[in-house]
Amino acid sequence: MKVDDEAVAGLIRRAGRIAVLTGAGISTAAGIPDFRGPRGLYVTRQYDPEKTFDIDYFDRDPSYFFAFARDFVQLVEQVQPTLTHRFLAMLEERGKLDAVITQNIDGLHQKAGSKRVIEVHGSVRNGHCRKCRRAYAYEELKAKVLSQEIARCDSCSGIVKPDIVFFGEAVQGMAEASRVAGQTDLFFVIGSSLTVHPAASLPEYAGGQVVVVNQGLVESASPEWLRIDEPADPFFARIAAKLGM
Ligand code: NAD
Ligand code: ZN
Repeated sequence: MKVDDEAVAGLIRRAGRIAVLTGAGISTAAGIPDFRGPRGLYVTRQYDPEKTFDIDYFDRDPSYFFAFARDFVQLVEQVQPTLTHRFLAMLEERGKLDAVITQNIDGLHQKAGSKRVIEVHGSVRNGHCRKCRRAYAYEELKAKVLSQEIARCDSCSGIVKPDIVFFGEAVQGMAEASRVAGQTDLFFVIGSSLTVHPAASLPEYAGGQVVVVNQGLVESASPEWLRIDEPADPFFARIAAKLGM
């Protein structure tokens, strides 16, 4: 269903509890490529997502992932949150937004000031040794990723993997995320093609109206969801203006 700005601003004004599910599309304007957008990794194949984030492939040949990780860590350190990331942090500060549920691993929500962020696909902020489970905090992990071809554990020489959820691994925080979604009366999906399950099924738990802000195709969208098919930043800039933010 199509919808105008005033209707969305009105929904936010009237809502008691809001939550959002974000995907890679919220970060493209910051300069991080998504998977399925027009300049996404599935198109450019700069890194093949199916090899980069496949846990069996990682165990056979981790060097492919670490080449990506070296680039990604440097990129993430340079980029700044988008207007939409900042809008969500402001909504939380005003007591309107319960939580950000994100499929992203870039940490941009925290950088924008969001406090409650449920990272269902993990993040690059921590890592663990695959062999002895020793934990590595971000600075140590980053130093290894940048200086070693394959990040190795100081205790046992096992391979240290950032705590990103790969294809074939269990997602994190889904119970909390589905509970949060169920308690809301307004739920936004922002910049996600809703293809990667089970995260993509979270809007189905939403207690109230679902609004999808995504430029491009969205898989399995319900006809009851409101749909905004345009880039997130100009859209939320107009909404923020309407809300006096
Ligand atoms: P996706 O690539 O499948 O979908 C992104 C969607 O956002 C696409 O439909 C694209 O057209 C749209 N889009 C691109 N730019 C936009 C913009 N400015 N405004 C609105 N929409 C825009 O990504 P996904 O649904 O998040 O799922 C893929 C997986 O990719 C996730 O598991 C995530 O972990 C991973 N990923 C994360 C990052 C990151 O952390 N920034 C980057 C790439 C992939
Ligand atoms: Zn170890």
